[in-house]
Amino acid sequence: MFENLKEQPADKILALIEAFKADPRDGKIDLGVGVYKNAEGVTPVMRAVKAAEKKIWEEQITKSYTGLAGDPAYADAMVGLVLGDAVERGQVAAVATPGGTGAVRQAFELVKMANPAARVFYSDPTWPNHVSILNYLGMETQSYRYFDSETGGVDFEGMIADLKANLKAGDVVLLHGCCHNPTGANLNLVQWKEVVAVLNETGAIPMIDIAYQGFGDGLDADAEATRYVAANVPELLIAASCSKNFGIYRERTGLLMAVSADAAKTKVNQGSLAFLNRQNYSFPPDHGARIVTTILTDPALRADWAAELEEVRLGMLELRKQLAAELQRLTGSDRFAFLGEHRGMFSRLGTTPELVEKMRADSGIYMVGDSRMNIAGLNTKTVPILAQAIVDAGV
Ligand code: PMP
Repeated sequence: MFENLKEQPADKILALIEAFKADPRDGKIDLGVGVYKNAEGVTPVMRAVKAAEKKIWEEQITKSYTGLAGDPAYADAMVGLVLGDAVERGQVAAVATPGGTGAVRQAFELVKMANPAARVFYSDPTWPNHVSILNYLGMETQSYRYFDSETGGVDFEGMIADLKANLKAGDVVLLHGCCHNPTGANLNLVQWKEVVAVLNETGAIPMIDIAYQGFGDGLDADAEATRYVAANVPELLIAASCSKNFGIYRERTGLLMAVSADAAKTKVNQGSLAFLNRQNYSFPPDHGARIVTTILTDPALRADWAAELEEVRLGMLELRKQLAAELQRLTGSDRFAFLGEHRGMFSRLGTTPELVEKMRADSGIYMVGDSRMNIAGLNTKTVPILAQAIVDAGV
C-alpha cells in the first residue's frame, strides 16, 4: 500500500523558514511565517492567557470528555465575540474545532453534505490552504477577481462582475471577514453591502473566514462586516480562529458557526455540525477553548486581553505607516501608500517572484514568493532597511 504514496509538495512557507535559518547573514529579516512577533521577534504568551491557564490549573477538577460540540460556554462566548447582537443566539449552531483550519474544513464538509453540487467561489488570491482543502475534498471551485496589483487595493468592479456573472443558487462564496490573507486589502462596509445584495439576488450562500479579529481596526470594527452579513442573509457559515487574537496558535482553537435566519433550523444544523466533529475527530480539543472562555467571561481578564491585543494592533499599524512613509520619502511618490491602507498582519507588495527572490539574495529579506509580507516581522529599525531593499530591487 505505502508504495502508492507520492511525495507531497513541500509547504512553501515552511521551506522559507528553513532557508531563513540557514542564511548566515546578520541583517536578514523574516517576513514569511504567519505568526505575530513583537519588536524583539518573539511570539509572546499574552498576559490574560497566562492568568487564565493558572486559573484553569487551580480550578479544573476533571479532564473527562466535553461534548461533541465542545463546551457550550465556549460557543456562547465566541458567538458573542464574533456576532455581538447581530442575530439571536438561537439562530446560531456552533461547534468547537481544532483551530480555524478545523472550522474551515468542517464548513466545506457541511457544504458537501448539504449540497454536493455546490461550487465554492474564493478570492484570487486566498489563503492557499482554502484551495488545497477544497481540492482534497474534490469540491468544485471557481475563483473571483480580488486583488489589483496596480493599486494594491481590491479590484471591486472585477469581483462583483465575476460574482454576478457566475453565481448560481446554492453556490458558496468564501470571504475573509477582515484582514485578508495574503493581500491585506479589504472591502469597506459599502462594498460588503453590495456583495450581500449580489448574494441575495443569486441565492448564493456566504462563508466567512475570520482569523484575525482585532488585528485590523479593532475587535468590534473587524467583526462589523460579518455581523452585517449575518443579519442580512438567510444562511451563513463562519469559521473563526482564536490562534492569532489570543496568541494560542498551538492550542488549536476555532469555532464553526452556521447562522440561519430561521431559528427552527438551528437544531438540525447543530446536530449536523456535531455529527461532522464525531466523524473527523470526535471531541474537539478543549484547553485553548477553555482559555478563551475563561478570558471572555471574566471582566478583568477580558479587559486586559483586549488592551494587550490593541497594543499589538496599534504596533502593526505604526509599522505599516512607517513603511509607507519611508517608501514615500525614498521614491517621492505615493505608489506604496496602499501599505498604510492595508489591515492585518499581511500585505501583498504586488511584485514578481523574481524581485522577491532578488530581495532575498541581495538584502536577506524573506517574504513569500507571491510578495506577501508579514508586517509583524518588522520593527522600527528594520522598516527603513526593507524600504531601501524594495527600492534597490526596482519594485
Ligand atoms: N484562515 C486564514 C485566512 C488564516 O490565515 C489562517 C491561519 N493562517 C487560518 C484560517 C487558520 O488558522 P488556525 O488553524 O491556525 O487557527
